[in-house]
Amino acid sequence: MNLIHVCFKCRTEWEAEGVPTEKDLCPTCFPEFRTFNKISRLSRNIVITEKIDGTNGLIFIDENNNIFAGSRNRWLNEHSDNHGFYHWFADNKEELLKLGKGYHYGEFWGKGIQRGYGLEEKRFSFI
Ligand SMILES: [Zn+2]
Repeated sequence: MNLIHVCFKCRTEWEAEGVPTEKDLCPTCFPEFRTFNKISRLSRNIVITEKIDGTNGLIFIDENNNIFAGSRNRWLNEHSDNHGFYHWFADNKEELLKLGKGYHYGEFWGKGIQRGYGLEEKRFSFI
């Protein structure tokens, strides 16, 4: 069932799934989604490590310390998660805010995601 949500930035009202909160952002005020740029050429010394098979994760923090979680090409929320990344994000928001503003990309991996690596938990590794 859709309920009326009110954007905390622009006060626009719109209908969406889920219970409205004081931190709801309308689709217009949501930050621009940016996918991770491909690394096109090797022009400096780099460190190459094993590629982890997990799922893509993105943390975005805006200039007002609003924080968002995304996956490869979309923003996540409690109704549209990606292998539990949104819930991990929600549980660790205070710590993640220390990253500072900007787009922070990584891989979410571990139990229940692809190879699992024998882990009993999930981990987020930045790239
Ligand atoms: Zn808005």
